[in-house]
Amino acid sequence: MRGVTRAFAGDPPVEALRRADLVVHPGEYVSIVGPSGSGKSTLLHILGLLDRPTTGDYLLDGLATRDLAEQDRSALRGGRIGFVFQSFHLLPHRSVLDNVLLATLYSGVPRAERRERALAALERVGMSHRLDFLPPVLSGGERQRVAVARAVIASPHVLLADEPTGNLDSVTSGGVLDLFDELHAEGLTLVVITHDPTVSARAHRCVRITDGVLHEVA
Ligand code: ADP
Ligand code: MG
Repeated sequence: MRGVTRAFAGDPPVEALRRADLVVHPGEYVSIVGPSGSGKSTLLHILGLLDRPTTGDYLLDGLATRDLAEQDRSALRGGRIGFVFQSFHLLPHRSVLDNVLLATLYSGVPRAERRERALAALERVGMSHRLDFLPPVLSGGERQRVAVARAVIASPHVLLADEPTGNLDSVTSGGVLDLFDELHAEGLTLVVITHDPTVSARAHRCVRITDGVLHEVA
């Protein structure tokens, strides 16, 4: 990100991000910390191509995204970015396996192959024993593992997580962080938003955000 500002109209208008410069290299594990309302989700939405900067540039894998059509941004998002959210966002009436499978519905990959990949992703997060379960009967930690499987099934370059342990107790949260360590060791780039110091301590680099301004934490 180069000089990225994101302003929201209103009275008064809000500058949720102010001239933010941020370079994340492949394979990095970065945490973004800051108080509520400081601009963390706004930053993540821009990094995830879910939102556009008001001014400034965002390059993903060296590709300038500003002038891309929405369709190209979706394709880029689907192929390179995985998301994990605080509240899991699983479909409650679909099985664990379906929740992960559905993430590849429009990938053009044949169903049998998609199923293999979904099984592998669930194996990777230690959820193979719960394939037919519905999300509401899973524990919070198990739900987040399924959400991580869904996020990594398309082999993204970067995983963006917004308060991924916000709904988990400390033990369960530790399990999800162990999983992040494993994914990072396998080469995935991670950007994790959190206001929990024990979560940010697991990252190898920490960036603080205050009133939309980024500061590298030594
Ligand atoms: P955080 O995730 O750190 O809690 P956000 O990025 O969600 O903070 O929000 C940063 C600031 O921008 C807040 O003041 C919030 O109210 C404002 N904001 C976020 N999204 C919008 C929006 N769509 N419209 C207007 N203001 C917004
Ligand atoms: Mg937020």
